Amino acid sequence: VKALVLHGIRDLRVEEVAKPKPSAGEVLIRVKACGICGTDLHFYKGEWRVKLPLIPGHEFSGIVEEVGPGVEELEEGMPVVAEPNITCGRCYYCRMKDRNFYCPNIRAVGVDVDGAFAEYVKVPAGNVYTIPRGMPFEEAALIEPLACCLRGLDNVGIELGDTVAVVGVGPIGLLMIQLSKIWGAVKVYAIDLIRERLNLAKQLGADVIVNASKEDPVKAVLSDTNDVGVDVAIEAAGSSRAMDTAVKLARRGGRVLIFGVAPQEEEWRLRPFELYEKELTIVASYRSPYTFQRAVRVASSGRVLLGPIISHVMPLERGPEAFEKLSKKTHGMIKVVLKP
Ligand SMILES: [Zn+2]
Ligand SMILES: [Zn+2]
Repeated sequence: VKALVLHGIRDLRVEEVAKPKPSAGEVLIRVKACGICGTDLHFYKGEWRVKLPLIPGHEFSGIVEEVGPGVEELEEGMPVVAEPNITCGRCYYCRMKDRNFYCPNIRAVGVDVDGAFAEYVKVPAGNVYTIPRGMPFEEAALIEPLACCLRGLDNVGIELGDTVAVVGVGPIGLLMIQLSKIWGAVKVYAIDLIRERLNLAKQLGADVIVNASKEDPVKAVLSDTNDVGVDVAIEAAGSSRAMDTAVKLARRGGRVLIFGVAPQEEEWRLRPFELYEKELTIVASYRSPYTFQRAVRVASSGRVLLGPIISHVMPLERGPEAFEKLSKKTHGMIKVVLKP
């Protein structure tokens, strides 16, 4: 069967691989759609070291093809998505009261084990969630990033009446804008360098858009908030520059969510006096611990628009080309979904 195999930095190939066989407790999924994530691009560019060769792909949807022995709750033909993170269930962190993904034995599909840029992928049955029949598979592939956004917003805690700034409006930022509004934000600022993305942000609910390639976003937001800043600043770009902007946009006593995944070795310089003076709360967010069920429900409700975030749907065979373009920040591409 066909798969995209990453062999080295910028070396992604379309190859024939053996069809995976589900073991006891596992489910084999026929992949219908899989989104390219910033994380995948980190692997591709060597900014996040993973064991190679690897079939990447962790944002996917598909149809149950076969269930392994002992799997009762799922059957062939069901439309599904899957939580890519597999925890051990036995370690200190796995047995804490608050469910999390701090497990030192965590393995993620498409990161540590073969993922879904392939015709088939296998996952433990406990990681599989059914989706409504008729939900477009391309949109369902966005449930994984949506689940991650829910974790981030749970952590930072938006309150009714808050003002929010989203720094970076790629696929994640566009989800964050919509979710912030649902969560009770009354004014959302979208900041990016690319005009097309900002226009889409506006369509999806941003109240004010700021093109940081044309004006200083900090000045723009401060002047619009009577020099106060926003209650919550969300960094959704994975760059230390965007993090700087987020810290500057937050009001005194405000909250900052560092959400974007930066390259593994990137460093971020902070001025501690600014944190002290503003009494800032900075929170991070790691993957999607037990937020999948809720993400499926949110996606099914239609209250978050996923379709407009998908700029390109391409066949799996064009994966290498899509990765290369995205890694060069080709304008006009937002979320690219590959279909085997
Ligand atoms: Zn992702
Ligand atoms: Zn564990």
